[in-house]
Amino acid sequence: MTTFADLGLHPDLLKAVAEQGYTEPTPIQAQAIPLVLAGRDLMGGAQTGTGKTAAFALPILQRLAPHANTSMSPARHPVRALILTPTRELALQVEESFRDYGKHVPLRTTVVFGGMPIEPQMQQLRNGVEILVATPGRLLDHVHQRTVNLSQVEIFVLDEADRMLDMGFIPDVRRILGLLTARKQGLLFSATFSDEIKKLADAFLKNPVLVEVARRNAAAELVSHLVHPVARERKRDLLVHLIKSREMKQVLVFTSTRLGANRLAYQLNRSGVHAAAIHGDKTQAERLQALDEFKSGKVGVLVATDVAARGLDIEQLPYVVNFELPNSPEDYVHRSGRTGRAGATGLAISLVCGEETERLADIERMIKVKIEREIVPNFGPNVREAPGIMARPDRERRRGADEPRLTRGRRPERPAAPAARPAPKPTDPIFSKPYEPGAAPPAAPQPQKRERQVAALLGGFIRKPG
Ligand code: AMP
Repeated sequence: MTTFADLGLHPDLLKAVAEQGYTEPTPIQAQAIPLVLAGRDLMGGAQTGTGKTAAFALPILQRLAPHANTSMSPARHPVRALILTPTRELALQVEESFRDYGKHVPLRTTVVFGGMPIEPQMQQLRNGVEILVATPGRLLDHVHQRTVNLSQVEIFVLDEADRMLDMGFIPDVRRILGLLTARKQGLLFSATFSDEIKKLADAFLKNPVLVEVARRNAAAELVSHLVHPVARERKRDLLVHLIKSREMKQVLVFTSTRLGANRLAYQLNRSGVHAAAIHGDKTQAERLQALDEFKSGKVGVLVATDVAARGLDIEQLPYVVNFELPNSPEDYVHRSGRTGRAGATGLAISLVCGEETERLADIERMIKVKIEREIVPNFGPNVREAPGIMARPDRERRRGADEPRLTRGRRPERPAAPAARPAPKPTDPIFSKPYEPGAAPPAAPQPQKRERQVAALLGGFIRKPG
């Protein structure tokens, strides 16, 4: 077994790691730390939840520590490491990690991001910091106001580069890169490596080593997935039912819009379930307060949009609920990665109505898992919509041939998926539940009349009674 000491880390860092309670390095840490210590550029294929922050923070602290300066003079504390993250929450967490791991090292750290007053950040920067964590827009504001000087940055980290791309930050990132004239080492982390990410990597990495670890939670195989087909107008009641019947103490619920998040949190509270919403319309202070209340257990349900939830580090989160399925399958992966972390098991539950059938099929194709459908008695889908939700992606492709039986007299609303699309593979290295076509589904309560009707229609593609 590799230990943190085997990786060549300084005793001061080993001490901090031990204080965090980490006993052994995660795969990304075991691979990346020696490389970063040796000064190599790196492309890391790893997402939040894999321990990637420590994988770069620990060796960066070690590389900067020998030249740490205890002088009070700001001029003695130029920015030497810059970490760019796409969201404020992630920036905050990364900076917190640097503080935790760098507890016994005399280096200064700060974080700057938008949505907060700029003046206190200016003051922090004026005092001098060696390690700066920032979101791109606010960092450029500081550059324009000349409150930060990036000409002595030696190590540059681009965290969650794919998300940067999604959020349109790449031009800002390139502008910032242009200012780093003293850059010696570059690290890029991304969940995926599209051509655009590779182009970006080419622009600022020298002969990088590619380090890839299994996608989120793959190593632990700890996330299970479940779909509850449900009529759209019954979703809220079903959610309340699930929270109560499963005795969920802490659940992160995703909606697709800010308005939807607010509305749902309000309605949950009215139903006696204590909930808070977190999304981009809230001020930073409000978001942090909601997150704190959720982490401390004061609120049991946090309703979030994708952007707001990105990078949130909530340990031991047992449930994630997709109140609405996301538009992109990647977001589904990010969402479900909020659970099953740090050795705990987790369940990602999706409430799926007829309109979301196509999205569900796309998600299953991407994660290569056939997610189990379970109709909750009294909360079933509309009978008319059920076949679509219950259908397997590969069955759907044959719709043209054998579905008229189900849609007689009606034109299908969407064209069938193209036949060339690959069918989901039965084995999956990423998610926990490989689809076993022949496997008997576990027992579930006796379905009510409407569910039985649906089950009959579908030929047993739902959980059977005990
Ligand atoms: P990250 O992927 O950096 O966001 O880390 C995800 C979570 O794993 C954080 O809560 C870390 O505190 C935790 N973590 C990081 N490294 C380790 C480790 N070696 N052992 C146990 N937990 C860790």
